[in-house]
Amino acid sequence: FMMTSTSLTGYDNELFVITHSNITLRKLAELKVESLAQQDPLTGLSNRRHFESHLEIEWHRSRRERTPISFIMIDIDHFKTINDQYGHAIGDMCLNAVASVVGSSARRSSDLAVRWGGEEFVLILANTGRQAAIEVANQIRLKVEQLKSPEFGNCTVSAGVSSVIPEGEDYDSFIKLADKALYSAKETGRNKVVSFSETGS
Ligand code: GH3
Ligand code: MG
Ligand code: MG
Repeated sequence: FMMTSTSLTGYDNELFVITHSNITLRKLAELKVESLAQQDPLTGLSNRRHFESHLEIEWHRSRRERTPISFIMIDIDHFKTINDQYGHAIGDMCLNAVASVVGSSARRSSDLAVRWGGEEFVLILANTGRQAAIEVANQIRLKVEQLKSPEFGNCTVSAGVSSVIPEGEDYDSFIKLADKALYSAKETGRNKVVSFSETGS
């Protein structure tokens, strides 16, 4: 409800007219717009905008509580071949199938599954250490490997994992580390998970 109050003049006593308006529909529409602005339209996962705001919150929480935070970067292997072979529309089906596996792996409210762009996804796992994150990444990899689609057959993903207990403000290097790990997974054969910790090991 929205309340407005208007004072009435010309009376000996101080008088006000109070109006209550039901603004539920307007609020619901605002919430819907807010949620759409944070969503990738193709897959329904979060977009980069939501990623930024979510990571900001979880990064600071992890720093305060001295808990690890992990980041999984996932990229579909040879996706260009799927597009070339079956067409863009079937490529989109493959993207959605992988997105749904990634999305279902974000189980806690502090986790976030994001379409990073093109055929790349990221998963933020707050309060999660390196081993647990590697396990989640491998589960995603296996689930995707087991997808059997009448349209595109099957596909695989590679994943890069980085984990850290945050100290400073800057999380760019943490993201770059997962990217580097993903690059290494691609270089060393694809359909695999590679993990780097902050020290680069
Ligand atoms: P790699 O194993 O090294 O990752 O090879 P790749 O073929 O997956 O990688 P590359 O970057 O060469 O190709 C990615 C392709 O993804 C190219 C681009 O046309 C396609 N793509 C990006 N966004 C979309 C989309 O929204 N839908 C579809 N169908 N294709 C997309
Ligand atoms: Mg890519
Ligand atoms: Mg790819």
